[in-house]
Amino acid sequence: SKPPYKWQRVLLKVSGEALAGDNTQTIDPKITMSIAREVASVTRLGVEVAIVVGGGNIFRGASWAGSSGLDRSSADYIGMLATVMNAIFLQATMESIGIPTRVQTAFRMSEVAEPYIRRRAVRHLEKGRVVIFAAGTGNPFFTTDTAAALRCAEKVVLKATNVDGVFDDDPRVNPNARLLELLSYQDVTSKDLSVMDMTAITLCQENNIPVVVFNLNKTGNISKAIVGDKVGTLISG
Ligand code: UDP
Repeated sequence: SKPPYKWQRVLLKVSGEALAGDNTQTIDPKITMSIAREVASVTRLGVEVAIVVGGGNIFRGASWAGSSGLDRSSADYIGMLATVMNAIFLQATMESIGIPTRVQTAFRMSEVAEPYIRRRAVRHLEKGRVVIFAAGTGNPFFTTDTAAALRCAEKVVLKATNVDGVFDDDPRVNPNARLLELLSYQDVTSKDLSVMDMTAITLCQENNIPVVVFNLNKTGNISKAIVGDKVGTLISG
């Protein structure tokens, strides 16, 4: 019989900013706990969940490079290390409620986490473990959205952010901005909608990976996105 949920395996992208919420701290433990609870409830349904974490709540390479005298690559490596901090925080939170979790990093930090090995990641997922991918792509000049598109184990990227989805204008500035529920990749690239950087969206387009952009701060949204209910914005071909 058909499973009640749409996705068998999902890649959840959690941006660093979303982890901070409106807290002044870098990470709001209430948010990591609510992510853990929602992920737990869908893994119980048998959905396999991989997560890519961002690092923007701690360090963003592009904004530090230049002004601080840092070169871009050094700044980006610091940004990638920031994602590892978030990953370990999230892992510890998930394991505190009994979800088996593995962190895999894009560059070696073998005392802290496993290196990224695709086949091993798939094996973990098959065994019901949540795999958290950290350190982005391992390369400066990229983003964790691109890492999400690259690591996308199967069919879909679910991008958890601080806003309800993609709008026709910045909703934090323009109160009349409209939520766009359905978009094509073409819409995103041609209208320059700030959803993902060009590299990430192009990778998704070329590989026919739909992207769902939704608000992490509303309880139940992660589960909705994972089970394939309508939430936020769906970007597809
Ligand atoms: N970063 C990088 N290469 C990658 C992924 C990330 O250099 O493949 C660096 C980059 O400096 C970036 C920072 O890590 O600003 C944090 O990642 P990102 O901005 O994607 O996090 P998010 O916006 O999701 O919080």
